[in-house]
Amino acid sequence: MNEAELLFSELLGLNRMGLYQKRTLRLDKARAQEAVSVLKRRISGEPLQYILGKTEFMGLEFKVTPQVLIPRPETELLVEKTIELVTKSQSQCVAKRSLPGGDKVTKILDLGTGSGCIAISLAKFLPEAQIDAVDISEEALMIAKENAKLNNTKINFIKSDLFASYELRTMNYELIISNPPYIVSNEISALQPEVRSEPRVALDGGADGLDFYRRLINDAPRYLREGGYLLLEIGFGQREVVKNILNIAKDFEIMDIIKDYNGIDRVVVTRKAG
Ligand code: GLN
Repeated sequence: MNEAELLFSELLGLNRMGLYQKRTLRLDKARAQEAVSVLKRRISGEPLQYILGKTEFMGLEFKVTPQVLIPRPETELLVEKTIELVTKSQSQCVAKRSLPGGDKVTKILDLGTGSGCIAISLAKFLPEAQIDAVDISEEALMIAKENAKLNNTKINFIKSDLFASYELRTMNYELIISNPPYIVSNEISALQPEVRSEPRVALDGGADGLDFYRRLINDAPRYLREGGYLLLEIGFGQREVVKNILNIAKDFEIMDIIKDYNGIDRVVVTRKAG
C-alpha cells in the first residue's frame, strides 16, 4: 500500500480493497481532524510508520517508535536468504538424523536487532531455530520484546554492544546476521528528514560508515562454528570495501552478494572457513 492508502485504511478501519470499493469516503469531524493532524506531522518530515506506530515486514506487523529503525523492504532479502540457507541445512540434517548432533537446533544470533524485525521473522519462518537477539539500546529492546509477543515468538533478547555481553562469551552459533548502522557520520545531517528522525545509534557507522563491519568481521569468528554463516546488510557503494575487510580478516569465504530491487549490492553472504 502507498502512504495515502495506509493512512486512510487505518483511519477508516478498511482494507485496501474496502477503500476502493466505496464510491465516496466520508470522514466524520473527529476523523477529519485526525487526518489533518497526521498529514501535518507527515508534511513536517515525520515518517508515516512512526505516526501510525506500526509497519509491516515479511508480512508481519511490527510496532515502531522513534527508538527503533523502521524496517526496510531491502532487509527482507537478508531474512529470505537466511531462511533459505537454514532450511537447506536443516533438511540435510534430517537426512543424517541417525548421526549424533544430526537433529540439533540451529542457533542464530541477530546483532543490532532494533525493532526485532529480523529475529522475529526468522523465528516465525524457522520454528526449529533458537534465536538470540542483541541491541545496545534498552529502549529498542523493549519494543523488540513487545514485537516478539505481538507475533507469538520466543526470542532470547540480550542487552549488549555487539558481542560485549558476558552472556555471549560461550556461545557458538550456526549463523550470525546483522543489519548494522552503516551511514557515514557526517552524511547523516544531509539525509532526508524522515531518516533523520530515526535513532542515530541505528544509522551511524562512524567516520567511513564501516566501523561495525570491522568489529563484526573481527569478532564473529569466535562465536561462530566452522562452516557457520555470517550474513550482513550493506549500504550503497560498500561492496568492495566490505569485501576488502573480509579478505584481510581471512576467516570468511564470500559465498554470495545479493542485489536489492534497485540493483544495489545489499546482502553479503559469507561462511566461516574451516
Ligand atoms: N537502510 C537505512 C538507510 O539507508 C540505513 C540503516 C542502516 O544503517 N543499517 O537509510
